[in-house]
Amino acid sequence: MNPQIEKIVELQEAISRLRDAEHRLHGIPDWMRELHDEHVARRAEIDALDEAAQTATRDRRTAEASTQDAQEKLKKYQQQINRVSTQREYGALLQEIDTVKSQISGFEEQGLAALEKSEQTQKELDSKREDFRELDQRYQTELARWESEKPEIARHAEELRARIAELRAQVPRPQLSLFDRLLDRYPNGALAAVRLLERSGRTQREWHCSACNYRVRPQTVVEIRNSGIMVQCDSCKRVLYLEPEQPV
Ligand SMILES: [Zn+2]
Repeated sequence: MNPQIEKIVELQEAISRLRDAEHRLHGIPDWMRELHDEHVARRAEIDALDEAAQTATRDRRTAEASTQDAQEKLKKYQQQINRVSTQREYGALLQEIDTVKSQISGFEEQGLAALEKSEQTQKELDSKREDFRELDQRYQTELARWESEKPEIARHAEELRARIAELRAQVPRPQLSLFDRLLDRYPNGALAAVRLLERSGRTQREWHCSACNYRVRPQTVVEIRNSGIMVQCDSCKRVLYLEPEQPV
């Protein structure tokens, strides 16, 4: 490999490793993923139950307040009975009393249902919280372990950043700007290795771009090996390079 391509390949590797390190620093590591997902799911269950318990408590209070209001109304109607003078007024008042009585029994039923719901939800919530405790402890332990690994990864990322700056200073500007443009377009890598494709029954060897699979002409391969210029894939435009172990 010519030294210039070598630098760019190393730059690409350092950028990819830095991305990986940053991803690990700011994300959830793979070894914690399953536990993390379970933790999130269980916590969501508990939050939902907690919400349901609060709703049931609110419903119960509302029903109790409505019952009380209706009972006040009933009391008022009952006091009015002695004061009515006509049969018609008396009948109308009895009608009101009946209505309010049925309202009271409705509110009482609602209150009772809300109370049952609240008790049942609370019981379920307590048991879920109890179960969650063990998982949460395990999670906190893993989290602490993960936190203790972070400084090492952060240090490694710092080293990579320094190395990237060093390499960028060593690559000529036009090549660097081409590399940057390609990296914008292909965040997973601006470079593609040239791969030899062995086909049985064919005497001629065929080369391909490892990223897009487009054919690379043999003279291009020779050019990459011998010249200092950066050669791009005809199709995807990634910069082509030969892996050190690749026979030419
Ligand atoms: Zn390509």
